[in-house]
Amino acid sequence: MDTKLIFVTGGVVSSLGKGITAAALGRLLKERGYKVSIMKLDPYLNVDPGTMNPYQHGEVFVTDDGAETDLDIGHYERFIDEDLTKLNNTTTGQIYSAVLDRERRGGYQGGTVQVIPHITDEIKLRIKRAITALSPEIMIVEIGGTVGDIESQPFLEAIRQLKTQLAVHQCCFIHVTLIPYLSASGELKTKPTQHSVKELQSIGIQPDVIVCRSDYPIDRGIRSKIGLFCNVPEENVIENLNARSLYEVPLMLEERGLCRVVLNTLSLEQREPDLRKWSAMVQGDISPEKECNIALVGKYVELHDAYLSVAEALRHSGIANNARVNIKWIAAEDVERGCPEEIFKDVDGILVPGGFGERGIDGMMVASRYAREHMLPYFGICLGMQIAVIEYARHVLGWADAHSTEVDFNAKHPVINLMEDQVNNIERIGGTLRLGSYTCRLEKDSLAYKLYNEEEVHERHRHRYEFNNEFLDAFRASGMKFTGWNPRRGLAEIIELPDHPFFVGVQFHPEFKSRPDAAHPIFRGFIAAALEYKAAGK
Ligand code: GLN
Repeated sequence: MDTKLIFVTGGVVSSLGKGITAAALGRLLKERGYKVSIMKLDPYLNVDPGTMNPYQHGEVFVTDDGAETDLDIGHYERFIDEDLTKLNNTTTGQIYSAVLDRERRGGYQGGTVQVIPHITDEIKLRIKRAITALSPEIMIVEIGGTVGDIESQPFLEAIRQLKTQLAVHQCCFIHVTLIPYLSASGELKTKPTQHSVKELQSIGIQPDVIVCRSDYPIDRGIRSKIGLFCNVPEENVIENLNARSLYEVPLMLEERGLCRVVLNTLSLEQREPDLRKWSAMVQGDISPEKECNIALVGKYVELHDAYLSVAEALRHSGIANNARVNIKWIAAEDVERGCPEEIFKDVDGILVPGGFGERGIDGMMVASRYAREHMLPYFGICLGMQIAVIEYARHVLGWADAHSTEVDFNAKHPVINLMEDQVNNIERIGGTLRLGSYTCRLEKDSLAYKLYNEEEVHERHRHRYEFNNEFLDAFRASGMKFTGWNPRRGLAEIIELPDHPFFVGVQFHPEFKSRPDAAHPIFRGFIAAALEYKAAGK
């Protein structure tokens, strides 16, 4: 195996932006012409985050091959601009499942199955398998959690063991830590970092590079102190300040020399990156000329991470339209109770994202109706499309009892219902949704076709219910257009209202495919419509 490995661990506290650091480094390496891939090892016992409540975990990111993954995989895709796979995310749950399954099949031939070596072997196997399948020149491996957590210990032990099997200069350990600022004494403190590095050292890992997250600049004195106590050269202590835009992080880390010291450690050729396009994109993000307000009406809006890719796709569309998109986070239940005229008075578009279950559904329906009746741009994603269909059935077609069978199993007009192959699937909820990339064929005479400018597209899915074709004729007769179809199974993928400036619902999740320098076409069109709505002063 010639691939070089970069391990990224985190210390002191969680939520340091370790994933962003790893992703940004990936971008910097890619801009130098290196073939990069990146994976995340998550220490929790769930097999994947698919069954977790978004409040616990934030969004579930879906890959083309249908893996339900950690939201950091989304950061990776957006930063390194590669479509990742199920190999790029592994959890403790998957590791244990594989080991226990092997044990049940007699695979250990009577041996005692233990964390070391069996669990750690399985971890190493997953890393090697991803490297073999994806064949990058450099594989970045981020270890979830914080050094010192019981859960992440087997992962740290596994990467320590892995190092012993690698050549000199074949791997680089980066430790991302926090340098807190004590306002009472006006000082930046290095002690937590020292402790965290000691903890790493005690399990046999010596970091090569320390990335220091801080609210304030870290001067040379602090860097040399960290270097001295943590056993790394001063130039390998890299400052990582808060950025104005997430996408500015690669540029800041480039300036601080992160990539240079990593390449040194790996004994790889130093090359000049061309960051002009990326910088122009960041500039567009930081100082756009226009702005608009988008209401995001969802169930988990208190935790913005629950809609991370949607928020990022809106940001990308802002960049593409030279505009700042201000998201107005609105709890669907507040719309149920409140007055829509008041709630939506200052917004230029409404987006209803994906979701599961009953809570908030009525509020989303009020939002969808308000957008439809007030010619306000509407974008419904997955559940947001289903909501638009139900609302339309109730108030345009006059079927007051229309519903999705997810919420009302006995609805007389089940306009959204279960796919046949899902009927017996509900008992085992993990990993049984319609997941991953499917083909969608576009009707030529449609807004969707205009936006994509392609007849066939591939979009990622994560849902169980579908538009019920039994009612297709009635919807069509009253004006709703079905402009995107799954050609193999005849499933409705996109709906539009032609007499409306922008009313689009999609059964898939376009947000997962948006990139900062290539906004998703429908998102881009939605923001363009919102800006037009605003300019018309409606
Ligand atoms: N709950 C709906 C379904 O399962 C929508 C899912 C979603 O929005 N991701 O079909």
